[in-house]
Amino acid sequence: MRFIDIVKNASLFDSHCHLNDSTFDNDRDDVVKRAQSSGVEVIIDIGINIESSKKAIQNTEKYELVYASVGIDPENLIPGSDLFDEKISNLSDADFDKQLDDWNSDLEELAEDEKVLMVGETGLDNFWFTKALVAGELNEVQAQKSLERQERLFKMHCELSKQTKKPLTIHSRNAINLCLEILQEEKIPEQTAVFHSLTPDIDDDEENFRKKVEEILSRGYFIGVNGIITFKNAKIIRNVYKKFFELGDLEKMYEAGFIFETDAPFLAPEPKRGERNEPGNLGHLLKNL
Ligand SMILES: [Zn+2]
Repeated sequence: MRFIDIVKNASLFDSHCHLNDSTFDNDRDDVVKRAQSSGVEVIIDIGINIESSKKAIQNTEKYELVYASVGIDPENLIPGSDLFDEKISNLSDADFDKQLDDWNSDLEELAEDEKVLMVGETGLDNFWFTKALVAGELNEVQAQKSLERQERLFKMHCELSKQTKKPLTIHSRNAINLCLEILQEEKIPEQTAVFHSLTPDIDDDEENFRKKVEEILSRGYFIGVNGIITFKNAKIIRNVYKKFFELGDLEKMYEAGFIFETDAPFLAPEPKRGERNEPGNLGHLLKNL
């Protein structure tokens, strides 16, 4: 099965879920069972580094409805983010090159698995260090270095996606245009990129965000919608997505480029905001569009 088959079948599927996260270690069987009995047909378990990508593949062996995505989250390179790995950040340029090669060969091997449907989580995050810069916790040189390394890592995932014909699941925070530029440069074809958990860039008003959304859709890429749309401060997103949600059924929304995700264990929809999220909440999200 390919990612695009799931979309074309109009299946109810969780397109971005971190089922391999350790918060599910004690009750993963029950979590999957609850998702299945709520009608979820497919869960894509997203890797954020080599170890969690391997864990995601193990989950595909254990659960029929689970598929995997393998990748290195850009947050590993971002001072101030939860996943920041100081060891990697301190690598010299030469050692970072070697680290990229190692990641690449590991991911190439993992991506061969037939239950691996996507490449990522990858992308660019210009949010954390924009905040850190303002707070004076980071200087321009460090920020520039992080962004350059993130770009190289993202391009590596783009190459892997083209090689394997498996779509990218993209984390873009405050970096939509930059991501689009790289996708263009890398000639990523339509239907092979998902902007997961898309939110407006820091300075976007409704009009700017609408233009960016239209650009993503006109390139034939998908947008992954999650519990953020139920949050009180998500007015811009809701206004821009409204006409697409009014299409009504999954088939039409998928055709328009909108797919759904939980991003569990994160981003539980209201009124469960702050609790551990799980793929079985997908139906609740769809009812609250
Ligand atoms: Zn994620």
